[in-house]
Amino acid sequence: MAFEGLTERLQNAMKTLRGKGKVSQSDLRATMREIRLALLEADVNFQVVRDFVKTVEERANGAKVLEGLNPSQQIVKIVDEELTKTMGEEAVPLNKAEKIPTIIMMSGLQGAGKTTTAGKLALKLKNEQNARPLLIADDIYRPAAIDQLQTVGQQIDVPVFSLGTDVDPVEIAKRGVEQAKQDHNDYVIIDTAGRLQIDEKLMDELSHIKDAVEPNEILLVIDAMTGQNAVATAEGFNKTLDVTGVVLTKLDGDTRGGAALSIRAVTQKPIKFVGQGEKMSDLDVFYPDRMASRILGMGDMLSLIEKTQKEYDEKQAQELSEKIQENTFDFNDFVDQLNQIQKMGPLDEIMKMIPGMANNPQLKNANMDPKDMDHLKAIVYSMTDQERTDPDVLNPSRRRRIARGSGRPIQEVNRMIKQFGQMKTMMNKVSKGNMSGMENMMNS
Ligand code: GDP
Repeated sequence: MAFEGLTERLQNAMKTLRGKGKVSQSDLRATMREIRLALLEADVNFQVVRDFVKTVEERANGAKVLEGLNPSQQIVKIVDEELTKTMGEEAVPLNKAEKIPTIIMMSGLQGAGKTTTAGKLALKLKNEQNARPLLIADDIYRPAAIDQLQTVGQQIDVPVFSLGTDVDPVEIAKRGVEQAKQDHNDYVIIDTAGRLQIDEKLMDELSHIKDAVEPNEILLVIDAMTGQNAVATAEGFNKTLDVTGVVLTKLDGDTRGGAALSIRAVTQKPIKFVGQGEKMSDLDVFYPDRMASRILGMGDMLSLIEKTQKEYDEKQAQELSEKIQENTFDFNDFVDQLNQIQKMGPLDEIMKMIPGMANNPQLKNANMDPKDMDHLKAIVYSMTDQERTDPDVLNPSRRRRIARGSGRPIQEVNRMIKQFGQMKTMMNKVSKGNMSGMENMMNS
């Protein structure tokens, strides 16, 4: 899981402040030292770490936080805000041309995920804006690259322009854009060549393509797993191409966080999207604030709701968020959600987006395989209507009956009811937009 080590260390760093009515200078210094080490260990650029720690410390001192109410919570809040700032504050949308087509050029090292991301982006534009994109196969050096893009194109039903491997990439890009104009495509996405390392020949070629088609957007695709190297790569590409945005891929892997936290600060270029899986639908807009709360392990309610919305009906998602807000989420809803979630992907990933769940030891112990979901459903199905809507009535004898009915051990029934209660409380607190999510984290 991405950021796991960083999340744990940041939480531990701040835990020492927990419950302190007053935080002394030396407490603060000790915490900041831990935060600094946590960030360095996560491979965050040292300059970024230095600035970050300095700002947090100044804010903690400056606003008389240390003497105020709940100093520890205020410090968590400051850390959260500064993490957000480091990553860019607001989501930055794609640039758009005044006259179609908008030209998007993908760039990046080999294996970073350019071809995959080109396809994901085409699908996103198609689904969300009803757009008609054209993909251009402009990597002529790796023969498989053209086939790969064509396969992607077929999969998402988007046309791919290719002139094979014998035509100059600058020419291919130009003719592809011409084709798009004729066919009234509103977006052109150019999949360019990569190399294992930055070299002059590659950079020359990319600059020539840039000069020839004047893209509205030059997206640099960066593999988040590569940490500090990602930052060096980004600087290299940016120097020559003056990119307009970054896509961080493979955030579904166990990246330590260095790339996500350093790239914006070092290159001054916004991260626009994140790739979070190999499927064509696994591309998301990058929201710095949500990423910050994910890094802090506060879960990510908004992303969860958005994912929910994407995967199923908006109306249903709306009902779900209302239920969470009104605290009327019951076991029937829980089973509905389990059914939906089974369509969506691994449950532990989804659960981690729920505030308070990221570091829940019970989640760590829980083995989230699909069979377990079926067991959870069996437990709920063995409840009466009254028990499903009003879990408070679930006394020991009812629980024993449910265990017998579902064929599950009583401990499992108890654990599930307890987790459900915790989940409900946390969802409700955070949905009210107060600081309880953080408070919970501090007190967990
Ligand atoms: P390119 O050489 O830059 O065009 O890279 P590709 O698009 O061929 O991707 C390289 C590998 O990374 C492929 O196996 C992709 O499936 C994989 N990949 C790309 N993006 C992601 C992502 O967000 N998550 C995961 N897990 N894999 C990805």
